[in-house]
Amino acid sequence: MKVLDHLAQSKRPFISFEIIPPLRGGNVDSLLVLIDDLVKYQPPFIDITSHAAEVIYEETTSGIQRRVKRKRPGTLGVCALLQNKYQIDAVPHILCHGFTREETEDFLIELKYLGIDNVLAVRGDDSGYEKPLQHGRSANRYACDLVTQIAAMNHGRYLEQDLLDAEPSDFCIGVGGYPEKHFEAPNLQLDARRVKDKVDAGAHYVVTQMFFDNRHFFRFVELCRAIGVTAPIIPGLKVLSAQKQLTSIPSTFHVEIPAGLSDEVLAAKPEQVLDIGVEALESLLARGRRSLREKLAGLEREEVQREA
Ligand SMILES: Cc1cc2nc3c(=O)[nH]c(=O)nc-3n(C[C@H](O)[C@H](O)[C@H](O)COP(=O)(O)OP(=O)(O)OC[C@H]3O[C@@H](n4cnc5c(N)ncnc54)[C@H](O)[C@@H]3O)c2cc1C
Repeated sequence: MKVLDHLAQSKRPFISFEIIPPLRGGNVDSLLVLIDDLVKYQPPFIDITSHAAEVIYEETTSGIQRRVKRKRPGTLGVCALLQNKYQIDAVPHILCHGFTREETEDFLIELKYLGIDNVLAVRGDDSGYEKPLQHGRSANRYACDLVTQIAAMNHGRYLEQDLLDAEPSDFCIGVGGYPEKHFEAPNLQLDARRVKDKVDAGAHYVVTQMFFDNRHFFRFVELCRAIGVTAPIIPGLKVLSAQKQLTSIPSTFHVEIPAGLSDEVLAAKPEQVLDIGVEALESLLARGRRSLREKLAGLEREEVQREA
């Protein structure tokens, strides 16, 4: 079932999760233990991240060597596990970086045959590795280009134009959004316009980068709505679980952690941080629900006044 249908059919708010495939050579059993645990919360779908090859420098007996390594393959395998072992809809992430458009099309065909009809199309971060484009191969630069490719396949347009009996795919396409602006964007307004470009290109819904203060999310949604983005915007949330995340999260994801929360984490013992993170998320959700209820009540009042 598609993410859009889950959103439309659900009678109450639900949570889904994002999981990361194991490191190369890693055991999938620990991931299965984790999924067994997540199943209890009845997530209608689960996202599986994707990881491009990156450049690493390794010290060897013959000096420092540059190597290109894909540390976390396995996105497709984890998707197949979710759909077939757990009957949970899988949402694989698909990247521009590290993949040619031809490889992306092959991946989409694998997904189609597996009955996976959701994808999240993101650009991927610069991993230092630029895939060489040989033999007429091409690459998607921005997520919007990737969405255009997937949407074209949904209309039966594959990269080779003279395919016989090219069957349209039927992917539900999600894209990323940044309540505190993507770090490369000059401002939030322009960044929101890039979200609109992705929706106009064929994306069906938006999932946001994590945030720790509701105000960022509501401001972002208002901005998107004001410029005509009508697609659902799903908030991306993260539980703070370790003190070191006070620096790693802002530096990696370019998001702010509110002073009250960081003070509380700094004053706590390491084993208390997870509980603080859970409480902070619960209160963020409660405030979010309250604010939505107030907004809905305001809209209803306006409608009654209009009708009177
Ligand atoms: C929900 C979510 C899931 C993610 N999952 C993964 C994952 O599995 N694997 C992974 O590697 N990364 C993942 N990321 C991270 C993401 O790949 C990075 O944040 C990346 O830097 C941007 O991705 P994007 O899809 O938003 O890119 P884009 O929409 O392409 O935007 C990237 C930047 O380019 C700008 N831009 C867009 N179009 C244009 C244009 N035409 N001209 C000039 N500038 C433009 C935008 O404003 C933005 O600053 C995820 C992010 C989110 C929010």
